Amino acid sequence: MQSLYDFNYEQLGEYALAQGWKKYRGHQLFQWMYRKRIKDIDEMSDQKKEIRTFLKERFCLSPLTLKDKQVSKDGTTKYLFELADGSLVESVLMLYDYGRSICVTSQVGCNMGCAFCASGLLKKKRDLSSGEMVAQVMYVQQDLDALQERLSHIVVMGTGEPFDNYDNVMNFLATVNDDRGLAIGARHITISTCGVVPKIYAFAKAHTQYNLAISLHAPNDALRDTLMPINRAYPLNELMKAVRCYGEENNRRLTFEYILLKGVNDQPQHAKQLAELLKGVHAYVNLIPYNAVDEHGYQGVSRNEAMRFYDALMKMGVRCTIRKEHGGDIDAACGQLRAKHMKVQGVKQ
Ligand code: SAH
Repeated sequence: MQSLYDFNYEQLGEYALAQGWKKYRGHQLFQWMYRKRIKDIDEMSDQKKEIRTFLKERFCLSPLTLKDKQVSKDGTTKYLFELADGSLVESVLMLYDYGRSICVTSQVGCNMGCAFCASGLLKKKRDLSSGEMVAQVMYVQQDLDALQERLSHIVVMGTGEPFDNYDNVMNFLATVNDDRGLAIGARHITISTCGVVPKIYAFAKAHTQYNLAISLHAPNDALRDTLMPINRAYPLNELMKAVRCYGEENNRRLTFEYILLKGVNDQPQHAKQLAELLKGVHAYVNLIPYNAVDEHGYQGVSRNEAMRFYDALMKMGVRCTIRKEHGGDIDAACGQLRAKHMKVQGVKQ
């Protein structure tokens, strides 16, 4: 059954018109869903019974059911959801000084095959619909409603490659960003891509205010080819051309994510190459502590080693930060909880 969450504000108005209803009914439904955050269509008390019945016969609200929830000592909360077709997806709530952030999943599994990542252990089964992504945000927001707190930030960094599901992701973000609903600020929303170059151009030309993060993880093609298969399709010179286009079109700083992998991409020459690669680009580097994935055999670096790499970059004029770790005591790394459940269930893909 389709979810009402699949419609953005405009689409809901058009749907109302197409049924011969007044357009403002679309606005009312949107308010019920995202301002009052009802869990059942029958709670729309100002809608006639016939309308509610009509909607209930055709749509659900949330297409998710909760399968598991783990809360870390630092408050990081991992949600495991089941979709209507039995697929499992994860979302993570993270608590920061500046607000509450959710990490959203964009696909069931992932085909990008990055050598270090847990998500790619399970190949892509399908894209998530816009509504299935909206529903992750809504579930967590409804949890927070009990505490009178609100989600202020979204990162599209869960399982999946958002630019391999571009239209649905953009539709999802339009819904949660909408002022008439959750109103999560565009500048508080970040999309992370492994480097699907044609979609970086599309995104650059869309002129949204969402932040863009590029998963780089290697400063030269030879190494990036081994870590991230996408690099064989779109090598670094093409990626950097697209990144420059984004900068020209949007005049905004973007982020490069760089996981430090012991003995692989953490040496002084890598810092040097990275500084060279990013010369003249309005960007900063986010150094990410590696969440070890047993199956892959890579190791992270110590805090001191990370600091050395950080210092080397800063000395060469590259602005960078070291990402704080969250949920170290739960299965909070990308795809870990889902992979564990699938193993327990004996699911093979
Ligand atoms: N496909 C997108 C978004 C999902 S991954 C992308 O590649 O950007 C989000 C980020 O987490 C990426 O930078 C990814 O490389 C990183 N990541 C994947 N596995 C990780 C792990 N085990 N530890 C730390 N970061 C990881």
